[in-house]
Formats: sequence, C-alpha cells, structure tokens
Amino acid sequence: MDYFEYRDGKLFCEDVPVKAIAKKVGTPFYLYSYATFARHFSVFDGAFSQMPHIVCYSLKANPNGALLKIIAKSSGGADIVSGGELFRALNAGIPADKIVYSGVGKSSEELRYAIESGIRMINIESEGEFKTLKKLSRKMKRKVPVSIRVNPEIDPKTHPYITTGLKKNKFGILWEDAARIYREMSSEEYLAPVGISSHIGSQILELDPFIEAVTSLKKMILELRGYGIGVEMLDIGGGLGITYKDELPPDPKDYAKVVNESLGNIGITLILEPGRVIVGNSGIFITKMLYVKQTAGKTFYIVDGAMNDLVRPSLYNAYHDIIPVEQKKRKTKVVDLVGPICESGDFLAKDRELAGLKEGELVAVKSTGAYGYAMSSNYNSRRRVAEVLVRGDQFFVVRKRETFKDLVRGEKTPSFLEAEIK
Ligand SMILES: *Cc1c(COP(=O)(O)O)cnc(C)c1O
Repeated sequence: MDYFEYRDGKLFCEDVPVKAIAKKVGTPFYLYSYATFARHFSVFDGAFSQMPHIVCYSLKANPNGALLKIIAKSSGGADIVSGGELFRALNAGIPADKIVYSGVGKSSEELRYAIESGIRMINIESEGEFKTLKKLSRKMKRKVPVSIRVNPEIDPKTHPYITTGLKKNKFGILWEDAARIYREMSSEEYLAPVGISSHIGSQILELDPFIEAVTSLKKMILELRGYGIGVEMLDIGGGLGITYKDELPPDPKDYAKVVNESLGNIGITLILEPGRVIVGNSGIFITKMLYVKQTAGKTFYIVDGAMNDLVRPSLYNAYHDIIPVEQKKRKTKVVDLVGPICESGDFLAKDRELAGLKEGELVAVKSTGAYGYAMSSNYNSRRRVAEVLVRGDQFFVVRKRETFKDLVRGEKTPSFLEAEIK
C-alpha cells in the first residue's frame, strides 16, 4: 500500500498534486511519501513484535538524511556497508548500539571508526578481515562485538534467484571456516563473538529460502553453544521483495511468522536488515517529456531523466511502472522511454506499451524509492536531481538539485597548467 494515487485524474502524493511540486522544484526529481515510508517501517517492525528484535534499515537502499530521521524517530536501527554510511546513520541520530556493519571489504580505517563509535556489531566476511580486527582491537584495547556473516549455501537448484548465498558468491564465510574463526575469536581478549549473520539476496518473493537459511543458522547457533560460544544475536539480513509489476511478495507478517517458527524459542535477539521493502514503493521518480522522436518502425519518448538518475533499468533490465502525471483518455503506444545520455543503454523502459504522451508532459516512474537516487551519478556531467518528501499537504526539498558549481567542486588545476594558460 502506498500514498500515490490519482484524484480527479491528477497524480497526488498524499495530499499534494505532483504537478505543483514539479512547478516549484523543476524536473527531474525523486518524490517520497512520509506516510508510506513510516507505515512500511512500522508494519515491518510490528510483524516481529513477538520476538526481541531490532529492525536495522539498510542505508544503501536510500540513505537520504530525512528518511533516516524517520527511522531514528521510529526507534529503528541501521545496517551499514561503509564508513560513509556510518557517518550518515550517526548524523541522523540513529544510536550506535542499533547499528550493524556488513560488507566484504571494510578498510582498517573504516573498522577503526566503527569501533570508536561503539556500534552494535561488526559482521565480518573474511579471514583477512578477522585478522585486521584482531590487530585493531588489541591496539585500541577496546572490546569489539563481532558477528560472522556465514554463507548458508542455499541450493541454487531450488532457488535460482538467490544471488548472495551461494558457494560461488563473494559474500560471507563457509561454515567450517566460520566455526574455526569463532573458536579462535573466543580466546581473544578484545573480540566478543556476539552474533551470527547472513543475507541471502534481494527482491526475494518466496519464503522458502528464508526458512532454509534460518533453519541452517539455528543449527550453527546450537553448534556454537556446544563449544561454549553463546551468540546473542541472529542477523538474518534483508532481501524481502516488493511489487514492481505483478509480483506477489510475502506479507511481512508471514515472513515474521516463518522466521519465528523456524527459529523456535532459542533465546536470541533477531536483527533484520530490510531496505527495498521499506523504501522501494515509498518513492517515485518524476521526469518530463522533452521530445517524441519517430524513426523507421520505432517511437522514442525522450525524457529529461536518464540512466545516471535511475540506473536500474539499464543495469538490471529492471521493470518500473510508468504512468502519466495527468490521467486522460488516451490511445496507448509501444515506445522506448529514453534519457538524453549518449549511450544506447540509457533507457527507463523498452518496447513498453505506454499512454500516448505529448512533449512537456510529466511522467512518473514508480517504485523507485530503493536503489534510485542511491545509485545515481554525474555521468555526462548531469547534475544529480532534487529529492522531495511529502507529508500530508506539505512538501519539503530534502536534497537540493546540484548546481553546475557542484560539478567541479573538489577539482583542482595543477599549477603547470595554470601557468600555460597565462
Ligand atoms: C543490500 C543489503 C541489505 C538490504 O537488502 P534489500 O534487498 O534492500 O532488503 C541488507 N543487508 C545486507 C548485508 C545487504 O548487502
């Protein structure tokens, strides 16, 4: 459920007409609904109310500071994958003891920052990282809470859509290695083996892989207890899918139910790292039709938004619903909706049957709250777009559109070139 809907043929975000926002901030821009975002978080959090748990919102899906403030106010935590994300989470007021840190390549500088900040736990993903952390903790004489991200080795034959929990993936540590590292860790003065984690993939639309993963993690926890290692936290990652087109993702309640059932009463705090399921359908991307270009046998709708703003279609061939901001009776047309970037891969939709649109009209690209702005770039020296948050009948620019000056910020001309110009 979301709060984007037509009223008398005009697209609204909550109680604000999208067209009014476009008039004020220009195009293209991302538009987020406060009510949708807050509701998604509370529904997800509420689903786990029977179990001790922390919902650690995955920053990488969308790290806008205003959204993070909503998470902080809802007593949520953060799942981070870089020093930059740690900075953002703390900056938004998310308490350090609700922050967990995943990622295959944390530098010692990033690890030091995490230790100094006193975060909940660091999920290590390699033997090398374990060694680095061992050295750092001894040097800093700070007790470091550690979890190992294990690779649950979910059978690819039954679940071909799982992309991060396979033996061949770069993520996590295989159980036999993890078990050994846990034992080594427990003899370290400054390392505390407090948790075990996994993250099996993204946009998962069935519950079976989660059941499989949790069942396998439970076995590992019991085995660790056998060695006298009593982990207190089980981090099952994120990955719950959403509807982009006609997918039928599981309800968070059913997800929580199967997790609870698979786990049983083993006295552990559950950590969840949802990203997409919280923010994906809380945002849309608004772009303007520049030109209708007719070539032999093909129609192109050229819009002012491009792959640098929203890369998912180009990168993953992802589908996003595209609707006109003004709903009218129109004939449909099969078109490619493309941006101005000098790449053939620059499209938001290909061979799509869309409402017939005219130049100057506004178009909404739906379900773009997750991995939209977060993955945007300045390619073709395009300024990154504005982000707007609506709450009720008000809207707030939560990130300004970049200026041309922003594009050259940080650049420096070496002195020998300055001299030649003179
Ligand atoms: C990307 C990621 C998430 C969030 O995934 P979603 O599919 O957006 O829920 C959670 N945890 C880790 C470790 C991740 O890499």
